[in-house]
Amino acid sequence: MTQNRDADRTPVTVVGLGLMGQALAGAFLRAGHPTTVWNRTAAKADPLIAQGATLADSIGDAVAAGPLVVVCLSDYDTAHKLLDPLGELLDGRTLVNLTSGTSAQARETAEWAARHGGDYLDGVILAVPPGIGTADAIILYSGPRAAFDLYEPVLRSLAEATTYLGGDHSLSALHDMAVLGLMWGVLNGFLQGAALRGAAGADPAAFVPLVRQGIGIVTDWLPGYAQQIAEGTYPALDATLDTHRAAMEHLAHESESRGVNADLPRFLQALADRAVADRAVADRAVADGRGGDGYAAMIEQFRKPSAGRS
Ligand code: NAP
Repeated sequence: MTQNRDADRTPVTVVGLGLMGQALAGAFLRAGHPTTVWNRTAAKADPLIAQGATLADSIGDAVAAGPLVVVCLSDYDTAHKLLDPLGELLDGRTLVNLTSGTSAQARETAEWAARHGGDYLDGVILAVPPGIGTADAIILYSGPRAAFDLYEPVLRSLAEATTYLGGDHSLSALHDMAVLGLMWGVLNGFLQGAALRGAAGADPAAFVPLVRQGIGIVTDWLPGYAQQIAEGTYPALDATLDTHRAAMEHLAHESESRGVNADLPRFLQALADRAVADRAVADRAVADGRGGDGYAAMIEQFRKPSAGRS
């Protein structure tokens, strides 16, 4: 069961046929893998059966059907509720969990799998279902290297960018959180801008080319910021924190005067004010704070626990 001599025909089981699970099973089938599926609502398997999938009578039969079991359910609680009674079936198998969760949940599930003799890879999907099996999908994995190497050719059916992060099972969830935070940062910035422009009657679609260009420009700043974060010094490469703070006040004021929600700009402003105040305390030689630092100095605010939660 641990040999993977013919990767193209390795049997795969997919547990969970929601929007994502159906896309995963479909990609395995298209890549030629004999695919066994199970879902609480069995009717969701119908299109996959038409493509050649086998519907297992029970989740136990599904897990027992092959060496590689891919799980994609709503959350870890659901995964545990379904899998915990089947622990002994895991012996000698590899469980790949693509359910979204936290680092702690990934570690705890890895320990559970190890107690039952199973290999465990925790994975996160950075894609939407139509992207699965294409160049638009990124899937990150963490867990034992040997298990990843054994099944990498099979897992590549799901995403061209199939990336191994390391042996610590928590790494994929950690990266998922980092990318989700980035996504919401970009989306909230877009929505704030769209609301502001909308207050003046502007069409949101016309905003998109400007947003694309702006994201590209900011992205080009990142290598320099990353170097400063690593070195712990933040000379202004482009604009000082004081320049940013003045512009944040403009954004907050513009939002308020147009009747648009100013919570996000006011929050950013408060964070930048704290960054400058903290830097002033850290370096008393600079009487007026460190508003002359660059924006990367804000990292020190993000590194700390939230106020009242330390
Ligand atoms: P979904 O369409 O809501 O599917 C949820 C799945 O969980 C279904 O198979 C559902 O079974 C099953 N489930 C829920 N509660 C259950 C229970 N009590 N007992 C048995 N089965 C239960 O969600 P999805 O979009 O496929 O997402 C699945 C996972 O992928 C999530 O962790 C999500 O965060 C992650 N993900 C999704 C996307 C995306 O774009 N959709 C992207 C990245 C990651 P039924 O069909 O019987 O309800």
